[in-house]
Amino acid sequence: MEKQVIIITGAARGIGREIVKELAKQGHIIICNYNKSQKQAGELKKELEKQGKNIEIFQADVSKQEQCKRLVQFTLEKYKRIDGLINNAGIDKIQQIEDVTKKDWEEIINTNLYGAFCMCQEVTPNMIHNKKGWIINISSIWGQVGAAMEVVYSISKAGMDGMTKALAKELGPSGIRINSISPGIIDTDMNSELTQNELKKIEEEILLGKIGKAEDISKCVKWLIEDKYTTGQIISINGGWVIT
Ligand code: NAP
Repeated sequence: MEKQVIIITGAARGIGREIVKELAKQGHIIICNYNKSQKQAGELKKELEKQGKNIEIFQADVSKQEQCKRLVQFTLEKYKRIDGLINNAGIDKIQQIEDVTKKDWEEIINTNLYGAFCMCQEVTPNMIHNKKGWIINISSIWGQVGAAMEVVYSISKAGMDGMTKALAKELGPSGIRINSISPGIIDTDMNSELTQNELKKIEEEILLGKIGKAEDISKCVKWLIEDKYTTGQIISINGGWVIT
């Protein structure tokens, strides 16, 4: 299989980390972005290099346009092309609408939506030039159906899915595929504040009877990269928790 140069944002922990491992296993060249998790990023690099895999780690806060630019410039200077981008970095805050401050709004929207937009803006000129490439946006089921107490997060992920559809239309003729993977609930730090009781209740609502694992998402990413005829789609991976 052809080795691809792939940027994954927010990938030292959680779902992103699992995607890095899966794609490195396939022999791809991985640019693993992290923001605060420098130690985990360093450990991941060490672990994968020991196995002979190709991985770079690069610190950047994707909520800042200039830092997205640096991440892409680093990749292009070193590898001369970008085959794929996975917008995975994301944050959430559980709060009622009346408690949402301008700062909360800016942090969530700038990280989840503006950051993903900036990354797309930075990588697409190279992809258009090469007449090939793909982007996967890790959105959320809440972008499709909305979550109480997570209005800003839901807005950010709905925006991301809108971006997926718009860019698929704009860039399909240039040979670029863009899709969203929309997870339900996945066992990562993001859900660490849920109590055992809350998790049990959610499991009872899921048709397949269990919380998802990061590898449920990384397996879908692997399939989507190999596939050549899917674009503009929102692919829900949620154990049948929500059927849209
Ligand atoms: P997580 O374990 O909390 O990890 C979040 C990741 O995002 C971290 O690696 C973090 O990097 C990165 N990040 C946050 N702000 C960033 C910034 N400004 N710049 C760069 N990276 C940043 O969460 P996760 O569950 O793996 O989430 C990954 C994605 O899946 C998110 O987009 C999330 O919305 C989505 N998702 C998750 C679930 C779920 O149930 N877990 C469900 C639906 C969708 P640092 O630690 O380096 O700062």
